[in-house]
Amino acid sequence: MNNIPKYFGSMVFDDSAMKERLPEQIYASLRRTIDEGKRLDKNVLDAVADAMKDWAIERGATHYTHWFQPMTGITAEKHDSFISPTASGKVIFEFSGKELVKGESDASSFPNGGLRATFEARGYTAWDPTSYAFVKSNTLYIPTAFCSFGGEALDKKTPLLRSMEAINKQTMRILKLFGSDATCVRTCVGAEQEYFLVDKEMYDKRKDLVYAGRTLFGCLPPKGQEMDDHYFGAIKPKVAEFMADLNQELWKLGVLSKTEHNEVAPAQHELAPIFTTTNIATDHNQLTMEMMQQIAKKHGLVCLLHEKPFEGVNGSGKHNNWSISTNTGANLMSAGDTPHENAQFLLFLCAVIQAVDDYQDLLRLSVATAGNDHRLGANEAPPAVISVFLGDELTEILNSIEKDYDYEAAEQTQLKLGVHVLPRFPKDNTDRNRTSPLAFTGNKFEFRMLGSQNSISCPNIMLNTAVAESLRQYADILEKAEDFHAAINKLIKSVIKKHKRIIFNGNGYDDEWIKIATEERGLLNLRTTPEALPYLYAEKNLKLFKTHNVFTETEVRSRYEILMENYCKTINIEALTMIDMVRKEILPAVCAYQGEIAQTAAAKKAISPAMDCSYEEKLICRLAGFCNDMAEKTDLLEKETKRLKAIGDISQLGNAYKDILIPMMEELRAVADEAESCTAEHLWPFPNYGELLYGVR
Ligand code: ADP
Ligand code: MG
Repeated sequence: MNNIPKYFGSMVFDDSAMKERLPEQIYASLRRTIDEGKRLDKNVLDAVADAMKDWAIERGATHYTHWFQPMTGITAEKHDSFISPTASGKVIFEFSGKELVKGESDASSFPNGGLRATFEARGYTAWDPTSYAFVKSNTLYIPTAFCSFGGEALDKKTPLLRSMEAINKQTMRILKLFGSDATCVRTCVGAEQEYFLVDKEMYDKRKDLVYAGRTLFGCLPPKGQEMDDHYFGAIKPKVAEFMADLNQELWKLGVLSKTEHNEVAPAQHELAPIFTTTNIATDHNQLTMEMMQQIAKKHGLVCLLHEKPFEGVNGSGKHNNWSISTNTGANLMSAGDTPHENAQFLLFLCAVIQAVDDYQDLLRLSVATAGNDHRLGANEAPPAVISVFLGDELTEILNSIEKDYDYEAAEQTQLKLGVHVLPRFPKDNTDRNRTSPLAFTGNKFEFRMLGSQNSISCPNIMLNTAVAESLRQYADILEKAEDFHAAINKLIKSVIKKHKRIIFNGNGYDDEWIKIATEERGLLNLRTTPEALPYLYAEKNLKLFKTHNVFTETEVRSRYEILMENYCKTINIEALTMIDMVRKEILPAVCAYQGEIAQTAAAKKAISPAMDCSYEEKLICRLAGFCNDMAEKTDLLEKETKRLKAIGDISQLGNAYKDILIPMMEELRAVADEAESCTAEHLWPFPNYGELLYGVR
C-alpha cells in the first residue's frame, strides 16, 4: 500500500503528465484553455493529441473513446482504435487534434426529448479540456460534452459547464468590488455516495432487482436496523476486499476516494471522496458508480445504487457538499478574520440563502426521480420541503443584523461593526442535524436531498445558476453604490428580511414543520416527481436560464420530456415486473404450499378420520384468500397498465402513474408480503430479505 502516492492518478493525463509530455509553449496554451477557456489552434491540438496518444499507449491503450453523459444518467462511450493503415499494408497508431476535439454520435439513440424531431439526428461530442482524460480497460477516455447538430445540449455536462461559467462571471463582479486579486472562481463539490452490496447469486434470482434495481416484494426479517449496530460497524472481510479493490482502481483514475464506512442499514455502505472542481467531481462520481458496479461483480457481489432497494430499511442518498473557491485558494463559503472579509462572507452566504428561497422548485426537481420519491419525506432523508440549516450561532448573527435595520441612527455606526461578531464564528461548526435538506457546515453547503443514483450534475447546475442570479442582482446594486460598505449592509439586511423564511434549524422530520413551512411560510412541498418537474418551465425559471445562458427554452422543454418519460418508464417496468413475478413465481409457490398442506391433512385423515386438521384447513383458507386477492389485483394492475399506456400526453401519463398505478402496486405488494410471511420458506421462489440483507436462511 506504500506505493499509493506513486500509482495515484497514474492512469490520468493530468497536469503533471501534460507538463512532462508537452513542449513548454503547447503546455502553456493548453493551460490557458483549461483555466480561462481560450480556444486552441490546430497545431496545439495536434501536439496535445499526439502526446496524449503516446502516453495512453504506454498504459496499454489501443482504443480511444469520447466519453459523455447523455440524459440517461449513466455515461456513454463509443470506442475507436488508434490504428491507421499505411501504404505498405501495415498499420500505425494515429490520433489527430481533430479526433480529440470532436466526435460524431447518433443522437437518436439517446433520450433527446423531441430535439431529434426538429433537428438532425446527428449529435456531436466535444472535448472538455477542463476534465482530464484517462485510461481504463485499454482505452483512452476523453471527457466530452454532447450536443445536437443545432448546438442544443443533449447531455448533463454542457449545462453544468455553462452554469460554472455563469457563477464565475457574477462572482468575479462581486470579488472585484472587494478588491480581490483572484481572476476566476470554481464551485467545488465532494459527493458522498451511499450504496448497498448484495450477493450476486441471490441477486440473479430476483427479477425485481434485475429489472427494477429494487425489491418490489419482501417482508422484513425479524431484525431490521433498529439495533443501530451497522452504522460505522466493523466492515465484513468480503466487503473490505471489495473496498480495497475499488479504492485502488479509483486512485489510479485520480478519484480522491477518502472515507468509507458502513451505513445505517445492514449491507449499506458509503464512500466519500475529497472535494474537487464540480465538473471533475461530476465525472468522478459517474466513474465511482460505474467502478462500484464493475468491481462488486468481481467479488461475487452486486452493488445496488437504487434509492430504495428494500422497503422498511433506510434507502441510499448522496450528499453534495458545495462551495465556491477562487484560483487564489480562498473559500468564499468560509468566514474570515477581518470585518472586510466577513462582509464578503456574509454577502455570499446571503446569495445562497436567497437562491435557495427563490429557486426552491429547481433544487427540488433537480433530485426528483421515481426512486428518490421513496425517500424524501419518509423520515429517513430530508423532507420534500426545501429549507436551509445555518446553526444557532450564524442564525443569531443574521438576526442581529436584521433587527438593527429599524435603527436608522445606528446604521452609520453599525457600518464598521456590521459583522463584528463574526470572527468568533467557529469554523468547525459541523452540524449533526441530518434532517436538513441544505445545511451550512462551516465552510460549505451540504445538499442532502440527492438520490444515490442521481447524477450530481443537475443539482449543481441549479445551485450554480441560482446563486449566480443572486450575485448578479447584488453586483448590479453594488457596482452603482457610492458608499460600498453602506450599500452592502443595506443589501444584507434586506436579503435576510426577505428570505429568512427559508432558514430552519429544527427537526425536518417533524410533521409540525411541514405544516409551518407550507401554511405559515409559504414554502413549496413538492412530494413527488410529477408534481415537481413542471416547475422546470415556470416563467421565472426560463428567465433565469436565459439570463445566464444555461438552457434555452427548447432545451428546458426537451429535458422536461425526458425526465417525465424516465419516470413513467420506471413505473411501467416496475408494474410489469410485479405482474410477472406474482403470476409466474409467487402464486405458484403459495399454491404449491397449499398442496403440501392438503397432502399432509389427507395423510393425517388416512391414519384416522378423527384426526384434527383444523390448522391445515385454516391455513389453506388463508393462503387461498391471498391467492385470490393477488390474482385479482394483478389482473386489475395489468388492465390499468395497458389502459394508461395509451395516454399520449407525458404530463398526464406521469400523474396517472402516480395517482393510479403506484397505489395499486402498493396494495398488491401488501398482500404478497403477507402471503410470504405465511408460506414455508423452502417454497419461496426467490431469496428473501433476511437472506439478502444478512445472508440468513
Ligand atoms: P461528513 O458529512 O460525514 O461530516 P465531512 O464534513 O468530512 O463529512 O466531508 C464530507 C464531504 O465534504 C467530503 O467529500 C469532503 O471532501 C467535502 N468537503 C469538505 N470541504 C469542502 C468544501 N470546502 N467544499 C466542498 N466540499 C467539501
Ligand atoms: Mg454528509
